[in-house]
Amino acid sequence: MRIAVVGAGLAGLSFAHFLHHKAELTLFEKSRGVGGRLATRRSDDYQFDHGAQFFTCRSDILQALIDDKDFSSDVSIWSPKVITLSRGEKPFKRDWFEPHYVGNPTMTSLPKRLAQDVDVQLQTRVEEMSKSDDGWQLFAETGASLGTFDWVAAAMPAPQTNALFQDQFAHQALIESAVISPCFALMLKLRDAPEFNFDAAVVRESPVAWIANNCSKPGRNAAPSLLIHSSNDWAKEHLEDSQDEIQAALLSALMDIVPLQTSEIVDASLHRWRYAKVETEVGEDFLIDESAKLAAIGDWCSGNRAEDAFLSGAALARHMHSLAFAD
Ligand SMILES: Cc1cc2nc3c(=O)[nH]c(=O)nc-3n(C[C@H](O)[C@H](O)[C@H](O)COP(=O)(O)OP(=O)(O)OC[C@H]3O[C@@H](n4cnc5c(N)ncnc54)[C@H](O)[C@@H]3O)c2cc1C
Repeated sequence: MRIAVVGAGLAGLSFAHFLHHKAELTLFEKSRGVGGRLATRRSDDYQFDHGAQFFTCRSDILQALIDDKDFSSDVSIWSPKVITLSRGEKPFKRDWFEPHYVGNPTMTSLPKRLAQDVDVQLQTRVEEMSKSDDGWQLFAETGASLGTFDWVAAAMPAPQTNALFQDQFAHQALIESAVISPCFALMLKLRDAPEFNFDAAVVRESPVAWIANNCSKPGRNAAPSLLIHSSNDWAKEHLEDSQDEIQAALLSALMDIVPLQTSEIVDASLHRWRYAKVETEVGEDFLIDESAKLAAIGDWCSGNRAEDAFLSGAALARHMHSLAFAD
């Protein structure tokens, strides 16, 4: 069985990890590296986890993976001092009641390990697909053929899956029911370590929703780096504003909240996540159209966390495994 997986985020990589012994898999990833929204940007001596901040591990299947000796060194527990900041209220400390994991030394450590044994074609955006007698033929942006496959598994955010599958997929309406909101990530290179009384802060009633001292995470031997996430609602309202406007607004909101001066900032950069947080999920582990031989996975199928993406990929792999045995 030849399967094309479009997207090498955690969902696509989990699917590949659990199925690659059973099928001929090729992953196509438009970016330069794997991991998708589990992402770390390096610049000079600085390092920023500008996507997911951490991930939880509530399922036996993810727990088994991170306990496995082949993967355990790629993941660590992050135990920051976390506070909540609200306008006009005293900050209060938040207690985390479960371990919060991060990739070590970067958020892409686990995705990279999962990708180790599979064929991943990086910087390859799948633009179109068409059905022939031999299966699904995939095409790159240039129009070049990427090969022919029996099955296509889309492992991208719902709108990108819909753009590729369109009405060739029986569950198009379900894909369209998923709602995913955006987020801006502001990355600040600092001269010195910030003198805050927290490692991470959840912020309320502000364009800023999250502040993290990136260096407080295990394994980050980087220069002082501050990562700020906007609120999803604010990002929705300002999605098409210019980078300069967004950056200025987030910096000004940040300086209202924490004792930080412009002179302490060496450099600032911004990333826009058009699809960041699932607001409405589909309520299925994965979507499959066995007659068209198309399937879709991702966090948006059943939740909004990295672990949901992992579980979605694992669930489809189990299902496809049973189909392979039935052949
Ligand atoms: C700012 C932010 C903060 C977050 N915080 C947390 C958190 O603290 N905890 C948590 O658990 N989760 C968090 N998340 C959510 C978490 O990152 C996601 O749930 C998870 O990473 C989704 O994985 P995925 O594989 O479903 O999708 P993605 O990671 O989005 O992977 C999809 C992949 O498909 C690729 N792709 C898209 N289109 C194409 C194409 N046409 N051809 C080829 N490749 C394509 C993309 O480049 C990407 O690599 C956060 C996300 C963001 C953005």
